[in-house]
Amino acid sequence: FPSKQPQVQTTIFTKMSQLATEEGALNLSQGFPGFDCSEELQELVRFYAKGHNQYAPMTGVPVFRQSIANKTNSFYGVSLNADTEVTVVSGATEALFAAIHCCVSPGDEVIMFDPSYDAYDPIVRLAGGIPVHIPLNSSNGFCIDWEELGRKITPQTRAIMVNSPHNPTGAIWSMEDLDAFASLVKGTNILIVSDEVYEHIVFDGAQHASVLLHPELRQRSFVCGSFGKTYHITGWKMGYCLAPPYLTQEFRKLHQWVTFSSATPLQYALAEYLKTPAHYLGLSSFYQQKRDLFASYFEGSRWKILPSHGSFFQCLDYAEISNESDVDLSVRLTKELKVASIPVSVFYETPPEDRILRFCFAKNDDVIMEAAQKLAQL
Ligand code: PMP
Ligand code: GLN
Repeated sequence: FPSKQPQVQTTIFTKMSQLATEEGALNLSQGFPGFDCSEELQELVRFYAKGHNQYAPMTGVPVFRQSIANKTNSFYGVSLNADTEVTVVSGATEALFAAIHCCVSPGDEVIMFDPSYDAYDPIVRLAGGIPVHIPLNSSNGFCIDWEELGRKITPQTRAIMVNSPHNPTGAIWSMEDLDAFASLVKGTNILIVSDEVYEHIVFDGAQHASVLLHPELRQRSFVCGSFGKTYHITGWKMGYCLAPPYLTQEFRKLHQWVTFSSATPLQYALAEYLKTPAHYLGLSSFYQQKRDLFASYFEGSRWKILPSHGSFFQCLDYAEISNESDVDLSVRLTKELKVASIPVSVFYETPPEDRILRFCFAKNDDVIMEAAQKLAQL
């Protein structure tokens, strides 16, 4: 069969989680919490499963959109309109797909920074767009060279993908980064797809620099969010897209043909749950403790700890341990050491010389300690 996407393979997350299951390994590969969501949220689902089991409105249940707008407005000090700027979708993956497809036409260029989340490139290609990859460097903390970005922008540039806190590296953007970025796109027609699914997981007192905070960026951005990371419910596949009315209008045209609408009882449950700021304000310190616990095992080991400023991922450099490729090593460690990870090279168009594995520390402390203990012995 002549594949439409010959270069696309099964995602690394599916591969590694499957291997971890087959091998009975501790699964620090695919990013999902190793613990349940709160009893309170489970109770809300049970409650709303009665009488709320038919199609939700295409744009999302109104009280849910209002709740998302209220939460976002109070957290960032902005003023989103629930009817014209908020759309409920089935996970950030759908938000990314619909945002890219509603604005990228054949021949349009879309800039992304590598390592880039694996969905971006294939979605751009499916839309007929041309992905333009800018590699970032582990030696300078994966920070962005604004001059290089300026050189990559052409009259064909339709959109730029942004992801902070960053998967897989844990790098985050600062307000100064937003300023530098804004000065490059000002006066152009470039749109921004900002993947902010880890918005509530930032460490060491940092504040998440959302594009919503920057008027120049906000007016041209699709902000893609997910409840999966914030409330430990990756299996619910509930997310949203925030965008100014002229973009939301186009976004909804796509969304109605992708899923049309998302799970009704879950929307009612979350509408209630996200009214309480305590349900997300403690998340950064909760995960910072886990990051520090995991990292503490590698002090003085042959692993080099790369800084993780946000997300629930820790990257470790194994150059002193092995010459194997990261793909080979992650498979071998899953089979022999029974600890699964994600090789970072798969997130690059042109993989660098780096030898880095990504570990998800969204796990119970006993799992973190057992995995780290095994790894640190290498
Ligand atoms: N973007 C990034 C950076 C992610 O890490 C993930 C999933 N972990 C997604 C998007 C997709 O989110 P969802 O599961 O809500 O589709
Ligand atoms: N985003 C998750 C990760 O980075 C995986 C999501 C998925 O499997 N599609 O591990």
